[in-house]
Amino acid sequence: MNLHGFTARDGELEVGGVGIRRLAARAGGTPFYAYDRARLRARVAGLRAALPAAVRIHYAVKANPLPALVQHMAGLVDGLDVASAGELAIALDAGMPAARIGFAGPGKRAEELRQAAAAGALVNLESEREVALLAGIARATGWRPPVALRVNPDFQLKGAGMSMGGGPRPFGVDAEQAPAVLAAIGAAGLDFRGFHLFAGSQNLRPAAIVEAQRAALALARRLAAHAPAPVRHLNLGGGFGISYFPGDTELDLAPIAAGLAELVADAATSLPGAELVLELGRWLVGGAGVYVCQVLDRKVSRGRTFLVCDGGLHHHLAASGNFGQAVRRNYPVAIATAAGAAPAGPVSVVGPLCTPLDLLADQVDLPAAGPGDLVAVFQSGAYGASASPQGFLGHPPARELLV
Ligand SMILES: *Cc1c(COP(=O)(O)O)cnc(C)c1O
Repeated sequence: MNLHGFTARDGELEVGGVGIRRLAARAGGTPFYAYDRARLRARVAGLRAALPAAVRIHYAVKANPLPALVQHMAGLVDGLDVASAGELAIALDAGMPAARIGFAGPGKRAEELRQAAAAGALVNLESEREVALLAGIARATGWRPPVALRVNPDFQLKGAGMSMGGGPRPFGVDAEQAPAVLAAIGAAGLDFRGFHLFAGSQNLRPAAIVEAQRAALALARRLAAHAPAPVRHLNLGGGFGISYFPGDTELDLAPIAAGLAELVADAATSLPGAELVLELGRWLVGGAGVYVCQVLDRKVSRGRTFLVCDGGLHHHLAASGNFGQAVRRNYPVAIATAAGAAPAGPVSVVGPLCTPLDLLADQVDLPAAGPGDLVAVFQSGAYGASASPQGFLGHPPARELLV
């Protein structure tokens, strides 16, 4: 039985060496998310061992902003990437030096730019409006935060689950407009450091990632000629996917590492002094988390068996298939209190909400289970609690534990 890297003892799933019933008691009840510190540490260490040492690894806080988890990650990675003033506060509280925090997002409020400038975080500018606002803040206060230009590239990340660059996008400025915005950054006297290029998410094709990174460096080299200062920071994006569904294979890091080694060598002469940064969210934290809910009822309706649980889409929108998926497929699930038991036929795992969308697993072959048993949804460390409509229908929020 595949427990997706977790262990089991006496038929009970464990997280961080603690049995799931005991964790439920520690949490104060179900449903809850549990994240495994040791797995997070091993994941970052494995990535560092695979990639060229010169490549900087940033954690994209959006994937999981739990303050305790961000603090744990802050001690492991080289920087944090945030997408709001709220995430910026979490990153600063986690102890990450402001200069190693990057702030990106398509609609930054004036107050958020002021907060980032006051903190001294790197601001990824995404429009002429943001350049003008930050320039005004700098003139009024004397604060000179480092800035980069976020560019909507003229290429796409092929095979990305979620494409975020190439074509018309609200993110960054189009590569064609970049020279004019770079001139505005220079004219405003802002402290230009480099570029941010993010093409997409959840990609399991190494060749596509390598190609996008190569194209990103080529674009940065071209745009460097228009920049007001030498490029010292180049965020190549991320996009590393994880395997959620049957048939998905783990991303092979070897070709990505080889591609990056070439880019590090290229950048050493074409953009001397520039650090290359990868920003990863789900690849770092997704596998280290499980969502656990309790079976409240077992119902048979016209030949189909339903396990009705106390958790569902209000805590885990992505597992219900409603977080950007084109086709609904089951996340990996297990009966956490019957780990290793033989499958007993197909059941559907549903939540307590009055909507057919509240489906955690459709017709999966699971061991026999009933009220009181616990269901685990794997690959749940990213885009879980914070990416779900927890207020929908008024049930309590999910608890979260770092173990
Ligand atoms: C969402 C996001 C990420 C993280 O994406 P993952 O798929 O979780 O790795 C990284 N960078 C930017 C700019 C993002 O918006």
